[in-house]
Amino acid sequence: MTRPPTYAKFREVQEELDRSGAAIFRDANGVESLIIRYPYSITYIHSYAEDSPFFLALSEGKLKGSKCTARRCGATYATPRGHCMRCGAPTEWIDLPLTGKLHSWTTCHFGSEAFLKETPYNLALVEFEGIDSVLLARVKEAVESDLYVGMPVEARFDPAPKLSITDVWFVPKR
Ligand SMILES: [Zn+2]
Repeated sequence: MTRPPTYAKFREVQEELDRSGAAIFRDANGVESLIIRYPYSITYIHSYAEDSPFFLALSEGKLKGSKCTARRCGATYATPRGHCMRCGAPTEWIDLPLTGKLHSWTTCHFGSEAFLKETPYNLALVEFEGIDSVLLARVKEAVESDLYVGMPVEARFDPAPKLSITDVWFVPKR
């Protein structure tokens, strides 16, 4: 086998990897590193553990939150919380309303691979009547100029749930 070619620019290394699968990168200190390319994939096995009821509820078109069981506290959360963030007491599950208001929002013009097809997309913190914390979710069926703080929104659920947080999003309330 011939020695792979050497490059000082990593972009050229990447081009060589596309061509032949191997290249040598010489860095600014003169260190030469052999670089190879090969496929790599991971299948995760992930446990939602005590957050499981939240994700199972999404697949049934429901939003579950958490409520502190300490009588003097009773803080409510729009996300799964095994224990209260204010006082540390255990929480119990509560049903969240399926409508809320935009607490704040942003339109993302860059996205990770999972969101590329829908980029640009809106990401919002949704607040619910009587609930002390907010839920991060996408807002669909709206463009950037439609959105404003306090805008009423309602939940939509993926009809083919993936048992993931992306199973829920919000749309402007009709
Ligand atoms: Zn508490």
